[in-house]
Amino acid sequence: MKIAVLPGDGIGTEIMAEAVKVLQVLDLRFELESALVGGAAYEAHGHPLPDATLQLAKDADAILFGAVGDWKYDKLERHLRPEQAILGLRKNLGLFANFRPAICYEQLVGASSLKPELIAGLDILIIRELTGDIYFGQPRGRRTAADGHFPGAEEAFDTMRYSRPEIERIAHVAFQAARKRDKRVTSVDKANVLETFQFWKDVVSEVGLLYPDVALDHMYVDNAAMQLVKAPKKFDVLVTGNMFGDILSDEAAMLTGSIGMLPSASLNSSNQGLYEPSHGSAPDIAGQGVANPLATILSVAMMLRFSLNQPQAALRIEAAVKDVLAAGWRTGDIYSEGTTRVGTRAMGDAVVAALHKSKG
Ligand code: NAD
Repeated sequence: MKIAVLPGDGIGTEIMAEAVKVLQVLDLRFELESALVGGAAYEAHGHPLPDATLQLAKDADAILFGAVGDWKYDKLERHLRPEQAILGLRKNLGLFANFRPAICYEQLVGASSLKPELIAGLDILIIRELTGDIYFGQPRGRRTAADGHFPGAEEAFDTMRYSRPEIERIAHVAFQAARKRDKRVTSVDKANVLETFQFWKDVVSEVGLLYPDVALDHMYVDNAAMQLVKAPKKFDVLVTGNMFGDILSDEAAMLTGSIGMLPSASLNSSNQGLYEPSHGSAPDIAGQGVANPLATILSVAMMLRFSLNQPQAALRIEAAVKDVLAAGWRTGDIYSEGTTRVGTRAMGDAVVAALHKSKG
């Protein structure tokens, strides 16, 4: 099993060190190979996704990714900015299905801005289509308007589009994921206004007929945004397009209180995947040793489950994280009175210790 380790920038290197420590205490054989990505790769090689890094990612069974970005790169041309590395990896590896679980751990109920009763026990899964929609549709650009409200004025435009196979494959991913959970899928669209999403709704409904054991309902995206803060526990699996998923998955992340706890996975059709925390490189706290490594450690668990076929090892890591929280260890982002504040390394060590203990 070959894992490409791409720590990236900012807190990426700090949290990745802890995730690798966790991988190394499992009784499994992995080949780990690291490479630069993002701003670090730009500094060393003049590009955020050098050919050697891309090749390593392509050859690996799974990619463990930290985070990329820093404000100091904001003035670079767009194709040289660190964040382009993620888009390049998604595109080159065909990573079309993004899994973002939003789980509220019992011990962290107080960290959410919502009332405890709304989020206690929350466990939802957002599946976002990652390679289509208005983010990639052509044509796009700027031009002089030929018609519209202001003919002759400068205007910009993008194209929203989805093909049948693109919708079918993400719908299958959602229904199959739901089968391993509470067997409910909510497909989020804007079919009342957008042609693309009426088509989305029709195709998801057709695929749904192949999964009679899974309940399917449809919801407009504006209502979904409201329901996520009003009654988030009503959802099980929520599947949607690239742009709506981008927004709703961040909204769902915040329900749980800390972005430092949330893993994510992006998979292609051969189950090769890129695993990363849901947060960014947090330049405001980078280098201080205070970042929460648990989102990255939980991303390791997702990697073991989805790409490396090691579900037992995944369960062990998830149980170790719960044990560490139950023992009161907290990084600053999830700290509350009466718990013990620790740094990045001590949090990683605590998970490693819990794993050793579970081994007996
Ligand atoms: P961010 O997620 O990096 O940080 C948002 C806030 O959350 C900050 O206050 C940060 O300190 C805190 N935070 C994030 N992760 C944390 C952790 N593990 N432990 C404790 N606190 C944590 O988002 P941002 O500040 O909007 O972006 C910073 C940089 O990261 C930008 O350059 C952005 O483009 C990039 N970014 C990268 C990714 C990625 O690599 N996938 C995702 C989002 C943003």
